[in-house]
Amino acid sequence: MTKPLFICFEGLDGSGKTTQALLLADQLNGFYTREPSDYPIGKLIRERLQNQQLDISHQTFQLMYAADRGDHWAGEVQPCLNQGKHVIFDRYFFSSIAFGASQGINYQWLNNVNRFYQIPDILFYIDTPVDLCLQRLTQKGKNYTSELFEKKETLEKVDQAYKNILNNYKDICLQHPNFSDACQKYIIDGSQSIDHINNQLIDIVKKSI
Ligand code: ADP
Repeated sequence: MTKPLFICFEGLDGSGKTTQALLLADQLNGFYTREPSDYPIGKLIRERLQNQQLDISHQTFQLMYAADRGDHWAGEVQPCLNQGKHVIFDRYFFSSIAFGASQGINYQWLNNVNRFYQIPDILFYIDTPVDLCLQRLTQKGKNYTSELFEKKETLEKVDQAYKNILNNYKDICLQHPNFSDACQKYIIDGSQSIDHINNQLIDIVKKSI
């Protein structure tokens, strides 16, 4: 059995992550999954995303994500990897760091509360300009007054936070148990066509299988 790959997609809302993650999962016959999970804490996270009035601090919210990650990993992800199936994540703890840091939480603290989670074999960062993300979200009919993270100003802050993570990727990863030089990150230009991006991803993944 070849080693199954643990692949993650990160990027802004509207960047095209879900489109690419679903395509790749289909092509690899892998398991597509996203955060938050459907476990109880994941459901609470969704409730909070839709109702900002729920009295939960930013830090507690990120601790909830970290807790949900544990349930998600143990309940769904590890069993898939054990069966030799590739796992494709649509957002992972890098999202916690990016969103949390954009709200003023210390990024080292955010990394610490996630430090026992594995680093993906491949991280794809879909790098799409904020205005193009907003244009796509609008075309998709997204009502972004109803969700917390989809306003332009917020996207710009999250974009900055992601760039900071990418610049410090190795330092962040070194604190996690499985990190090695074999773990790769790729920044993909998300303004290209869906097919063009997908072809690039397939070429990269083929080299790792
Ligand atoms: P995300 O998961 O990052 O929020 P999605 O994959 O849901 O983004 O894509 C947001 C919208 O943009 C969808 O309507 C999707 O069809 C469209 N889209 C995704 N990738 C591209 C692309 N490369 N070019 C044009 N439109 C795209």
